[in-house]
Amino acid sequence: MGHHKTVWDNPAEMIRQTQPENPVMVLAPTVLQDTARRFLDGFPGLVTYAVKSNPGEAVIQNLLAAGVTGFDVASPFEIDLIGRMAPRAARHYHNPVRARSEISHAVQAGVTSWSVDSRSELEKLFELVPTQIGGQGVEISPRFKLPVLGAVYDFGSKFGATPELAADLLRLVADRGYVPSLTFHPGTQCVDPIAWESYISVAREICDSAEVRAKRLNVGGGFPSHRVSGVEPDLTSIFTEIGDTVAEAFGDDAPALVCEPGRGMCADAFSLITRVKGVRDGGSVFLNDGVYGGLAEMPIVGNLDRIEVLDPQGRPRDGAAAGRVVFGPTCDSVDRLPGELSLPENIAEGDYVIFHGAGAYSTVTNTRFNGFGELTNATVMSLR
Ligand SMILES: *Cc1c(COP(=O)(O)O)cnc(C)c1O
Repeated sequence: MGHHKTVWDNPAEMIRQTQPENPVMVLAPTVLQDTARRFLDGFPGLVTYAVKSNPGEAVIQNLLAAGVTGFDVASPFEIDLIGRMAPRAARHYHNPVRARSEISHAVQAGVTSWSVDSRSELEKLFELVPTQIGGQGVEISPRFKLPVLGAVYDFGSKFGATPELAADLLRLVADRGYVPSLTFHPGTQCVDPIAWESYISVAREICDSAEVRAKRLNVGGGFPSHRVSGVEPDLTSIFTEIGDTVAEAFGDDAPALVCEPGRGMCADAFSLITRVKGVRDGGSVFLNDGVYGGLAEMPIVGNLDRIEVLDPQGRPRDGAAAGRVVFGPTCDSVDRLPGELSLPENIAEGDYVIFHGAGAYSTVTNTRFNGFGELTNATVMSLR
């Protein structure tokens, strides 16, 4: 009697035993829970997980098991997902522009924490959201933005009020009897803590000019993952810097802190296993996944360069590294990774290319364009 194996020691074992034809996303729950504990132990405030980065149920379950008690949600779907999987968890509805039907849905669901970045959207909240839900005061956090510093991708261009407008909004929120707080999101993959520093000082100025004491300050996501070999993200020094900057800016008046990591929480717990379909006349490498699949972020955020190439028996290819153009499987010429990837010169058809740190903004943005992108999931004890 054989038994069907569902948890593998590592990607090499899974490759050796199953020779997957389709891309596979492998999750190491131990890595995910370790990362969650690093945030919970190190961040000086409440840790909420930004569900959009990877809403997989295995992710949510492991975060709950590690002790995460809050989630940053942006849609009725995410609100209901967390409501079902973690009925007691806090849900922060931080999408500052919402349809009236979405607002009503969230009120019904009992959401008590909201962000806003305009007068028009604040008016909608005043109309549709009571100041108390289920005996709890409803918190509204104006979201403000500054010119981008230290992030690889400018999220600020879509959301965020100027500090002047944020002060007006904060005043209005307090006057109407809601719990006044502030929030910002510095951008994504911020490897330098400077990304948070100026935001925190401006938060203080906003409170001063509104003459309102913010109950909480949400310092957003943007915590880095390990995208580039040799450059380990230093979460501890970012946490310390955030705590020190808040103490310096606010002194005894310091608001309670909240963060909402997405990438920094989930990315490094996953590796994407792709297969080489062909090496065209010894030159370009064609993979079975690309920018319409699990590698959607590469053109925006840059290539993941923690790459391993294994032969079909799961043994490392040990040729000298050489730059190659890498294409995905679709017939669209955009389906190409930026620049060149450094790959072993003896890479061959049927080999596997493993992208480590691929858990964020990958499973969710995967499309079925051209009939490709059938991504399967697997669990591993370890990613190496
Ligand atoms: C996307 C997003 C996050 C998570 O960003 P990461 O860079 O993945 O940490 C956090 N907060 C808000 C408001 C977001 O839109």
